[in-house]
Amino acid sequence: MTIRDLSLRYEGTDHSRETLALSGVNLDIMEGDFVCVLGPSGCGKSTLLNIMAGLLQATEGTIEMLGEPVTGVDWKRAVVFQTPTLYPWLDVYKNVAFGPDVRGIDKKEAEDRAKTYLNLVGLADFAHARPYELSGGMRQRVALARALVNDPKMLLMDEPFGALDAFTRNTMQDLIRKIWKETKKTVFLITHDVDEALTLGTRIIAMSPRPGRIIKEAEIGFTLQME
Ligand code: ADP
Ligand code: ADP
Repeated sequence: MTIRDLSLRYEGTDHSRETLALSGVNLDIMEGDFVCVLGPSGCGKSTLLNIMAGLLQATEGTIEMLGEPVTGVDWKRAVVFQTPTLYPWLDVYKNVAFGPDVRGIDKKEAEDRAKTYLNLVGLADFAHARPYELSGGMRQRVALARALVNDPKMLLMDEPFGALDAFTRNTMQDLIRKIWKETKKTVFLITHDVDEALTLGTRIIAMSPRPGRIIKEAEIGFTLQME
């Protein structure tokens, strides 16, 4: 993904002033990178992620993925938010199989994929549970399976473990690292946790607010990547 001179201005309303949420952001993300983004609240992390996802349109600048401009949401990019939004009336399996189904992927193929990814996140035994029967960590694993089931090129995660307790967070970090290694997906992950960024990332990006911009980029040595 190639990001050039990106800026985003939220228009003011009667109750709020306009905000330059991002200014002059340049970033190159290579296939297979695991990019972790750090920075204080309000520095534009979520805004950047939402533009990358195609959920928000930049005010200025360009953003391309695999040679094509990012103009809207696409199966190539999957998003995982801090709080998973699952369909409460569907069981775990159907929450995961829903995407391929909507895309018109062959029923058998959709079933196989959903099963594969439920296995990968360790929820095969909970296929027929409803979201409200699961813990927060398990719900986030469903969200992860749902993101992966469409075989995206890039996984965009906005503080995916921020709402979890320390133990569950560790388990989820191990899981995402395993998935990254096995699937070779490009990952872009926002976190408040420096340790998390150091353990998971191949690159770390630090942002700063007013206006939101990238102030530092660092490659993480291979030593940290080895078990
Ligand atoms: P972060 O994810 O780093 O906390 P955000 O991208 O959420 O930062 O926000 C960047 C800036 O843009 C902040 O000043 C925030 O208040 C402002 N902002 C975010 N969303 C909106 C919005 N929908 N309307 C107006 N201002 C917003
Ligand atoms: P409402 O229109 O009453 O806000 P929705 O039908 O949009 O309700 O959403 C109902 C439930 O489905 C909510 O729990 C929401 O989090 C979830 N949901 C909505 N959109 C999606 C989506 N695209 N993917 C997964 N879950 C969703």
